[in-house]
Amino acid sequence: MHLETLAIHAGQRPDPATGAVMAPIHLSTTFERNADGSYPAGFVYTRSENPNRAALETNLAVLEGGARAAAFSSGMAAISAILQALTPGDHIIFPDDAYFGAGRLLREVMTPWGLTFSVVNMTELDAVHAAVQPRTRLIWVETPSNPLLKITDIAAVAQIAHEAGARCAVDNTWPSPTGQQPLTLGADLVMHATTKYLGGHSDLLGGAVIARQDDEFFERIRVIQQIGGAVPSPFDCWLLLRSIRTLPYRMRAHSEHAQRVAEFLAAHPAVECVHYPGLPTHPGHALARRQMRQFGGMLSIQVRGGAEAAIRVAGRVNIFTQATSLGGVESLIEHRASVEGPHTTTPANLLRISVGLEHPDDLIADLAQALGD
Ligand SMILES: *Cc1c(COP(=O)(O)O)cnc(C)c1O
Repeated sequence: MHLETLAIHAGQRPDPATGAVMAPIHLSTTFERNADGSYPAGFVYTRSENPNRAALETNLAVLEGGARAAAFSSGMAAISAILQALTPGDHIIFPDDAYFGAGRLLREVMTPWGLTFSVVNMTELDAVHAAVQPRTRLIWVETPSNPLLKITDIAAVAQIAHEAGARCAVDNTWPSPTGQQPLTLGADLVMHATTKYLGGHSDLLGGAVIARQDDEFFERIRVIQQIGGAVPSPFDCWLLLRSIRTLPYRMRAHSEHAQRVAEFLAAHPAVECVHYPGLPTHPGHALARRQMRQFGGMLSIQVRGGAEAAIRVAGRVNIFTQATSLGGVESLIEHRASVEGPHTTTPANLLRISVGLEHPDDLIADLAQALGD
């Protein structure tokens, strides 16, 4: 079946107890035992498992073409679970352009815990090869990357990982499963900040890990979820499933609008360069065409005139909101370096743009007036 159908039906069916077409929210933290001590529906305690979370996890596993999924209370909790499933002393290969929080977690939390890591330009496969060490157990991929939208060859990196006896994990937050399905390209794990496109309305925080195989590594992630305890609430699981039903249609529009905005910006004299894989001039365009079904709703630009000019543009928009995050129906613009702080490698004149579902003509008009003098 197609993603449009699966988004609506996978893990979702009318409530057998009442016939309600939309599942109820099971707020109960605890579940009654039978007289013989068994649990009639298998649910014991909501931190371990909850009907709304189980439905969400089934849906996410199906959308990514995986065997199992584990839902978390944030994207960072999902990344933490993958890293904690490794063993102290293990080595990770990490991209030079990636979600800033993931790098910070590696440096400030997981390095003291005992992991080591090397940072490489993941678009250069030779560099990835050269970074492999005897204890390399994980190669982390984010494509398109944040905030420069570099495109990494998932199949090729997964192969390098497997030859090294390591796993390949892909942060698939930006493209979402409608844009690319890393597990079908050979990756072992997919991670999502469901806070972004899957949630889609900037009103819930969540994360997920989806595994290609139901193996002992996923079992460790499950234990970290249940015993570590960073689980999403039943309400957040319900709200997320509600949003996922429209994901394929939202992503289609996000991508279409981003393409139009990118083309407008690429032709604007105040813009030094546009990073968007849907532009034929983007160095990863050919690879993105092979690996992705849609180029997604995220892009970044570098503004002529440095940081000051960029900040001025971000301050002059009317329809866009100047705020961090992405993936909601509303368009956002952000001066990224000032959010990332002193460790940032983001160019000072870069603005990151999350293109929303407003009419693209209105978005282009707003950017035109903000860029004009
Ligand atoms: C937002 C984001 C995260 C972190 O997710 P949170 O829900 O904020 O913890 C990780 N990766 C990417 C690509 C993101 O955009």
